[in-house]
Amino acid sequence: MSDEDLIVLALAVVARDLSLARKMVNFARDGVMEEGEMQEKLKLPPTELRQLLYRMQDSNLVVQLGTKEDESGNRLTYWRINKDLAKSFLARKFNEAREMLLRRREEESSGEYYVCAADPTHIRLSFDEVITRMDDGLVCPVCGAMLEPVDRGKILEEIDRMLDVLNKALESLEGEAS
Ligand SMILES: [Zn+2]
Repeated sequence: MSDEDLIVLALAVVARDLSLARKMVNFARDGVMEEGEMQEKLKLPPTELRQLLYRMQDSNLVVQLGTKEDESGNRLTYWRINKDLAKSFLARKFNEAREMLLRRREEESSGEYYVCAADPTHIRLSFDEVITRMDDGLVCPVCGAMLEPVDRGKILEEIDRMLDVLNKALESLEGEAS
């Protein structure tokens, strides 16, 4: 991955918008953006862009350089994109996601879970919770469908696949010569 791809990806994680992040990096000149110009080019309302830049600054991915007035008295605000921090930011995010998946994996392998047979997003109960609800009948409180045990094999397989992707991404980040 090129340095430019890394910073686009890192900004996209914060903005939750890959094409917006790409445009930001492309419109910047030598990594510096002027806020008013960005507003126009990205077609974002001023407050939205400002909040986005602050969120990026919280992660040290951009830094506000300062303001100055142009000849017509307009206040210009400059921001610099910290390309160098993209890699460590992404590694941290990937590691967080990995930790979360590992916890989920442990939780899945340690107990049996029951979900609504019609729509698993309706309810998810542990075996113990199912036992305490026996009196009410084993039905979904949302739609009344039966509860059924979760197919753990499938979930574990999916978690392992995601872990695999994350591990490869982390390896390739660490393998990047900087
Ligand atoms: Zn249901």
